[in-house]
Amino acid sequence: MDDIISLAKRRGFVYQGSEIYGGMAGLYDFGPYGVELYNNIKASWWKTNVRLKENYVGLDSAMFKDPRVWEASGHTSGFSDPLAECKKCNTRIRVDKELEKIGVTADEKMSEAELQKLFDENRDKIKCPNCGAKEFSPVRAFNLLVKSNLGDFTGEGKNPVYLPGEACQGIYLNFKNIVDTTRVKIPFGVAQIGKAFRNEISPRNFLFRTRELEQADTQLFIRPNENKEAYELIKKDRWNWYLSLGIEEKNLQWKQHENLVFYAKDAWDVEYNFPTWGFDEIEGVHDRTNYDLTQHMKFSGTDLNYTDPHTNEKYIPWVLETSMGMGRCFLAVFSDAYKVETLPNGEERTVLKLKPALAPVKYAVFPLLRNKPELVAKAREVYEMLSQNFATEYDDNGNIGKRYRRQDEIGTPKCVTIDFDTLEDGTVTVRDRDTTEQTRVAIKDL
Ligand code: ATP
Repeated sequence: MDDIISLAKRRGFVYQGSEIYGGMAGLYDFGPYGVELYNNIKASWWKTNVRLKENYVGLDSAMFKDPRVWEASGHTSGFSDPLAECKKCNTRIRVDKELEKIGVTADEKMSEAELQKLFDENRDKIKCPNCGAKEFSPVRAFNLLVKSNLGDFTGEGKNPVYLPGEACQGIYLNFKNIVDTTRVKIPFGVAQIGKAFRNEISPRNFLFRTRELEQADTQLFIRPNENKEAYELIKKDRWNWYLSLGIEEKNLQWKQHENLVFYAKDAWDVEYNFPTWGFDEIEGVHDRTNYDLTQHMKFSGTDLNYTDPHTNEKYIPWVLETSMGMGRCFLAVFSDAYKVETLPNGEERTVLKLKPALAPVKYAVFPLLRNKPELVAKAREVYEMLSQNFATEYDDNGNIGKRYRRQDEIGTPKCVTIDFDTLEDGTVTVRDRDTTEQTRVAIKDL
C-alpha cells in the first residue's frame, strides 16, 4: 500500500489535504489524474444505476437538512463510536475494534454500560496500541456527526445543523416529491452520489477511513415483504458492476453482517482485498424494511404512504439499499490496477492496468523529436483531432522511453508517436500499454 500511495502522490492522483499547512488527518484532495479516474468511476456507476435501469431515477439533494432529519434517522443519538482513552499516553482507542482484534464481537446496539462490561471482561488482553499500557478511561460513546452554524445567528451554537453523516437521507426526504412529480411506480429506485462527513476518531488506511467522503447510494422502494428475490438480484448486480470495472474476482468477497439492527432483515458487505490489511468493506447492501420512511413520517408529520395506482392499496414501502464509498472504490480500482512488471527486455516498469473507460488519459500523442517543426505540427494536429472525443495528452518531454514509462504509470491505454514516416504516408505508431506492442495505424483510423 505504501508503494500505491506513493504512486498516487507522485503522479498527481491523490494529495494529502491541506498539505502545505502540514496536512489534515482524514482529508484528501484528488489531483488532475485522480479527479478524472474518480469521475470515470462515478460515470460508470451512474450509467449502470440510472441510465440502464428503466425504473431508477437520479437525485442530488442539498447537503444541509432540517436537523430533525438526523433525529429521525437515529444519528444524533446513536451514530457513535465507543472510545476509551489510554491513561498513560492519552491515545484514544475504538473499543469495538480492539475487541474485534482479539476475536470478541461488540454488538452495534450495545449501550455504554454493556460495552464497558465486555471491555472489562477482556481487559487483560487489550493493550494501548501506542504505549502498551493497560489502564483506560471509562468507555464513552463519541458521536460522529459534524456540526455547523449555518443559519444560526445567535453566535452561541445553540441550534446546530449537521453536515450529512450519510448521503442517503436526501432520498427519503424526496420520496414523496418523486412519486408526485414523475411517472415512477413501485418497485422503483432512486440513485444519488453525495458527500458525507464523519468525525472519525482515527482516520487511517489512506482513502479507506476519511472524515470527508462521498457515498454512491441506491434505494429501491418495494412492496412490503417482496424483498427476498429483489435483494438477491441487487447483490448480483452490484457484484457484476465491480467486475465490469476490471477488478479481479478473487479480490472480492461478500460478508454477511452478524448483528443486525432491530428493523433490518439482512445486510451484506462487498469487501475488497486491500494490499497490506486485506479484505475490508467497500459497500453495504441492506434490507431495511419500512424503517426509514416510517421514521420520517413520524418526525415530519407528512404522510409518506404510497397508494398503488391499480389496487388503491396503501402502504409504507420497504427499502433495499446499496451504499458504496467512492473513495474506497477508487482505492480498490487503483490498487487492483497497480502492477510492477519486468518487460521482455529486462526493464522493470510500474503500470496502472486500468480499464480504458476508467483511465484518466486515453491517448498520449508524441512527436518523435521536439525540435522538428514539421513533426510537432503534425503531432499537434493529431492531438487536436483526438481531444475532440477522448481525454488526450500531448507530451514532448524527454525521450520516447521516458514518455512511455510516465503514461504507463497513469494508465494511458494508447501512446501515439508521430515520426518521419507519418509525414510521408499518414501513419503513426500506436503502442499498447498492456502488451507494449507497437503497430502502424493510419491517422484517419485512430
Ligand atoms: P465502517 O464500518 O467501515 O465504518 P459503515 O458500516 O459505517 O463503515 P456505512 O455507514 O454503511 O459504513 O456507509 C456505506 C459506505 O460508505 C461504506 O461501505 C464505505 O464504503 C463508506 N464509508 C463509510 N465510512 C467511511 C469513511 N470514514 N471513510 C471512507 N468511506 C467510508
